[in-house]
Amino acid sequence: MVKNIFLAFGLTLPLIGCVTTTSPVASTENYIVDSKTYQATGKSERIKTIVLHYTVSDNDRSIKTLTTGKVSAHYLILDNDDDKIYNLVPENERAWHAGDGGFAGRTILNDTSIGIEIVNTGIAPEYKDALEDGKLAYHPYEHYVAFDELQIKKVAELVQDITARYGISPKNIIGHSDMAPSRKIDPGAKFPWQQLYKQYGIGAWYEGADKLAFMDTDAFAAATIPEIKQQFRDYGYQINNSDEWDKASRDVIYAFQLHFRPRNPTGEIDSETYAILKALNKKYADTNDFY
Ligand SMILES: [Zn+2]
Repeated sequence: MVKNIFLAFGLTLPLIGCVTTTSPVASTENYIVDSKTYQATGKSERIKTIVLHYTVSDNDRSIKTLTTGKVSAHYLILDNDDDKIYNLVPENERAWHAGDGGFAGRTILNDTSIGIEIVNTGIAPEYKDALEDGKLAYHPYEHYVAFDELQIKKVAELVQDITARYGISPKNIIGHSDMAPSRKIDPGAKFPWQQLYKQYGIGAWYEGADKLAFMDTDAFAAATIPEIKQQFRDYGYQINNSDEWDKASRDVIYAFQLHFRPRNPTGEIDSETYAILKALNKKYADTNDFY
């Protein structure tokens, strides 16, 4: 199923991601490029991360914005009934989708990620004005517009395919909000991360038993802000060193909740959020790849 995704959606297999054994540099009359005699073992794929987005606009406007403007993505999944996934930028080129931010020790994620845009309104129109002093508002679950099931199916098979080809670590399959929590809330609370993990084995998710074991209100009450922030950092989030839950720090909590506790995203730390974070760190300890 995974191998056949491009065929299944009527696309030809992309050439990128294939193993190249010879250098693209051509020999000249002054030198010969020898790609066979010596080979290095210390190497890895350039693509480390998949960043998922929603477009906040309809099919036509999303196509226009992503093909004619200064923003783009490798793949675009429309909100319709057809069997296509549109490949707008070759995987071996940079798409301009991530912007400022970082995750798991990497910044400038356009260099090392594949970006997937999904057509979805995001926040329902009647709630769009709910900004707090021009900064990101912490919309509840109900304000987000649900994704179409066919879109999620396409996302799942596309992500499975990309993950297999580049060996992407589960926790490096992230939302735009995970890498840019003070600027972005996409793909939002209705993006079904848990379903993707359970049904398709995609991305990271915690063990329920670990969460319950960490649901110790005394331990939560005793945890200091720097300790809690360190747990966010250990998982991969960029979070400041301030000794308080300032707006930027709460933006990280909100982004985390959108991903891992989407039914109740508040931007406030609580014992359940902290337990989920610790459960994730237990399961995915030492999976960062900094080479
Ligand atoms: Zn985005």
